[in-house]
Amino acid sequence: MYILLMGPPGAGKGTQAAELVAEFHIPHISTGDMFRAAVKEGTELGKQAKACMDAGQLVPDSITIGIVKERLAKPDCHKGFILDGFPRTIEQANALDCTLTDLGIELDRVININVPVEELVNRMTGRRICKGCGATFHVTFNPSTTGVQCDKCNGELYQRADDTVETVTKRLTVYSDQTKPLIDYYQDQGLYSEIDGRQSIEKVLSDIVTSLRGE
Ligand code: ADP
Ligand code: AMP
Repeated sequence: MYILLMGPPGAGKGTQAAELVAEFHIPHISTGDMFRAAVKEGTELGKQAKACMDAGQLVPDSITIGIVKERLAKPDCHKGFILDGFPRTIEQANALDCTLTDLGIELDRVININVPVEELVNRMTGRRICKGCGATFHVTFNPSTTGVQCDKCNGELYQRADDTVETVTKRLTVYSDQTKPLIDYYQDQGLYSEIDGRQSIEKVLSDIVTSLRGE
C-alpha cells in the first residue's frame, strides 16, 4: 500500500502514521524526522536543514527531493510506504511523480487530515516527543502518564525547537502559501480523501483505515 499523508503541520500525520505502520507493516517516511535525525547527527545536511527549520521555512527543494529519492529506492519501500510531510511544494510533487514512475510505483491513496488553524497552534505548542522512541504526546490532548516520561519506552520527553508560538505561526503561513495548493493537485488525480482531523485520534485512524480499504 502506497500512502501519501497530507495536512497542515500539527494535524496528526505522525501520530496516525505510527498507527498505520502497525496496521499495514510498511515504513513511515517523514522528511521532518529525516531532517531532525541529520541535525542530531551533525551532518552537513543537518546543518543546512537546521537553519531553515529554526526559521519555520522549508528546506530547499533541491536538498529535500534528493533525500526522498534516495529513501524511496531502498528495498523496504518495495511493498509500500507512508509518506508524511512530502511533497510540500508543487516542484516536490512533480519530482515525486517522476520518482514513482521510475520506480514503477503508483500511489494508492492521498489522505488529507484537515484541522482548523486555531487548533493547530494548540496542538503544536503542546506537543511532546520521546527522545528514545520518537513517540508523540500532547500535554492536554494525549498526555503521557507522568508528563515527563514516555509511556512506551520510559524515554525523556522534549519539546521541538520549532514548536514555539512564533515559529508555528510562520510554519502555518508557509503551509498556506506553498503546500495547501497541493490539495488541488491531488484532487485532480482522483486518489484524494479528506479526513476530519478534529476527531479523536482513534476516530481519525478508523476513518483513514476505512478510506484505505475502500469501504
Ligand atoms: P504532524 O505530524 O501532522 O505535525 P502530530 O502527529 O505530531 O502532527 O500531532 C501534533 C500534536 O497533536 C501532537 O502533540 C499529538 O499528540 C496531537 N494530536 C494528534 N492527533 C490528535 C487528535 N486527533 N486530537 C488531539 N490531538 C491530537
Ligand atoms: P515536520 O516534522 O513535517 O513538521 O517538518 C519540520 C520542518 O522540517 C519543516 O518546518 C521544514 O523546515 C522541514 N521539512 C520537512 N519536510 C519538508 C519538505 N518536504 N520540504 C521542505 N522542508 C521540509
